[in-house]
Amino acid sequence: MPVLRLEDVSVTYRTAEGAVPAVRGVSLDLEAGTSLGVAGESGSGKSTLAATVLRLTPRSATVEGRVLLDGEDVLAMSFGRLRAVRWAEASIVFQGALHSLNPLHRVGRQIAEPVLLHDPSAGARRSVDGVVKELLTSVGLPTRLASSYPHQLSGGQKQRVMIAMALACRPRLIVADEPTTALDVMVQAQVLDLLTSLVRELGVGLVVISHDLSVLATTCDRVAVMYAGRVVEEGPAAAVLRSARHPYTRALAAAFPTIGDPAARFAPRGLPGDPPWPGDLPPGCPFHPRCPEAEDRCHTDDVRLRPAGDDQAAACIHVGDPSGVVR
Ligand code: ADP
Ligand code: MG
Repeated sequence: MPVLRLEDVSVTYRTAEGAVPAVRGVSLDLEAGTSLGVAGESGSGKSTLAATVLRLTPRSATVEGRVLLDGEDVLAMSFGRLRAVRWAEASIVFQGALHSLNPLHRVGRQIAEPVLLHDPSAGARRSVDGVVKELLTSVGLPTRLASSYPHQLSGGQKQRVMIAMALACRPRLIVADEPTTALDVMVQAQVLDLLTSLVRELGVGLVVISHDLSVLATTCDRVAVMYAGRVVEEGPAAAVLRSARHPYTRALAAAFPTIGDPAARFAPRGLPGDPPWPGDLPPGCPFHPRCPEAEDRCHTDDVRLRPAGDDQAAACIHVGDPSGVVR
């Protein structure tokens, strides 16, 4: 049983402008000790999907499908059970979390908070200081930073503190939404490398979200690419980056130059056009208005994710086995 299994998950926001289907039928598996990168442009539904995993979507959202955490459906849990699961079994690093450290409190106290929340006796035993030091060490920071204030830390150090907080209760699953977007591209790769190696070591499952496919592909085990609320390609990270099957994946990879490729660094090719608004999707394949390979039937025929190559899947009419079913 995977640590996280999404079964045909859909999320629709009710708005004054009508229904906004932000996530449309996503199925994904994540094995313990592995990392899954979720890539896609802004508006593709990544944050909505992340929030769904811990049932943190707003009231205006209707969620369908199943979100299985170690086999238990998060969407069917009681509120009591859900409170116990958050942080202790699954923790989330929100988009923009870098700025959510409290400037008035020392870093050590902030790391101790989730530990004390779930095990109040830890404070009485004075063991929490030891736990904080262990956590700082595990994310490659000197233990003396426990007595520093957030403004005394660099961006990369703050991000490591956020990771230490996510690890604090030894969860089974960590969801990190754009955890490195504010950082320099080299620091991004370092922080993600740290996160993915901790995940392997501790046997934790990791979902990490970014708009930058190349950063994910060089650090995660598997990658899923989202477009207009759907997964349009999924597979082993290296394969998805090197032999992408969906034209959108290729466009996204070209839009963000590969780390360490000096030629690409100075000539990033933008992704032409804008992604569709989920409240008003075009008929057929939602990518067809921007697709260099689109033909007539792409304007009318929608395609679901299907097997396309070794352990890879894509939602494009030009690739894969139309009779195949992905999970
Ligand atoms: P991403 O993280 O990939 O940028 P989001 O999940 O934030 O994507 O957003 C997906 C779509 O859902 C966007 O079109 C966004 O405008 C819409 N959306 C997100 N949150 C809400 C909300 N609370 N109410 C209505 N629409 C929303
Ligand atoms: Mg987002």
